[in-house]
Amino acid sequence: MGDGTLFAPRNYGERYHGPTRLREALASSFNVPAVYLLDKLGVERFHDFLKELRFTSLNQSSNFYGLSLSLGAGEVTLLEMVNGYRAMARAGFLEQERVISQAYDIHGRKIHEHREEPERVFSREVAYIITDILSDNASRVKSFGEDNPLNLPFACAAKTGTSKDYRDNWCVGFTKNYVVGVWVGNFDGSPMEGVSGISGAAPLFRDIMIELYKNQYPPVFEEPYSLLHLDICAKSGKIAKHSCTRVIEEIFMPGTEPAESCDAHHSRTAYNNTDYGSLALISDDIKGIEIVNPSNGDIFKLDPQVSYASQGIKFKVYVVDDIDEVVFRLNDKILCRTHHPFEYLWVPIPGEHKLEVITGGDGEKKQDEIYFTVY
Ligand SMILES: [Zn+2]
Repeated sequence: MGDGTLFAPRNYGERYHGPTRLREALASSFNVPAVYLLDKLGVERFHDFLKELRFTSLNQSSNFYGLSLSLGAGEVTLLEMVNGYRAMARAGFLEQERVISQAYDIHGRKIHEHREEPERVFSREVAYIITDILSDNASRVKSFGEDNPLNLPFACAAKTGTSKDYRDNWCVGFTKNYVVGVWVGNFDGSPMEGVSGISGAAPLFRDIMIELYKNQYPPVFEEPYSLLHLDICAKSGKIAKHSCTRVIEEIFMPGTEPAESCDAHHSRTAYNNTDYGSLALISDDIKGIEIVNPSNGDIFKLDPQVSYASQGIKFKVYVVDDIDEVVFRLNDKILCRTHHPFEYLWVPIPGEHKLEVITGGDGEKKQDEIYFTVY
């Protein structure tokens, strides 16, 4: 359920982003991919699944909601939402909430309480993948910027939502120990002025989580052993090849990983035959030289207990075949000249940095630049 308007699917931030990976679409609350996916899955199937997750407020037929069900057209309670996320936090097990966890009679004897058996609603693998995406700040950056309130200093999954016309908004998320849900709105349902989930409920969610963990950070989420880690092309989502300009590691359930190698970077004409977007949108990729690591906007957090020298950041450049020397410049000063494999291991210094790479030798200069931050 995304942020934004209910009818014409527009993205939060009102920009169309072209082909997008699930990770970024979900973390950045893009609406267009959510509507597209719901159309493929079928509204009825998704509606049935939400009922299985005990969203009992969704008591109309699936036709009543239509595709806007993916954007939050169905009104649900905060408690239903929290319970749905709680199932994710509990590796896929749904259990009815209990208002009182322990009760005693007047003699101090514990009153037996009925506890239902938790019911599996998603696999452990699905729960982990979604948790990993919702706790991945780098993937939220396109919509919410680097310094967004969901960027907590510990492992915490979170999602925001904003209703049509800014009537209300919410933020729900969890760590290994707690699920927290925040709703912001006027009780009479009147709209607020431009307050979204990220500006309304998320800062409150953040304050609660920080308070809960002021003494000790929560443990990290445990990844199931069965998941696959693969290097994929950030553009096409297929298995990365040497020619891919940006490669990322992604996790997959066995059987859902991409089978084909990337074919999006062979030549300009190759683009015309693919559905990765318009030629105008992607032709920027082929400029002969590109910094593939770090990515623009990356943030590195140094571990203060380990020497900086052993926390080196690898600068890596992709170049077309006819380039054999490149010059790395950091913050307008030459760092080094280097050859194949066009890498440099940099000892990090805290601060904001500009990294440039320029082709060496004679001939027409090609260059690329990115910005990153080290804390
Ligand atoms: Zn590629």
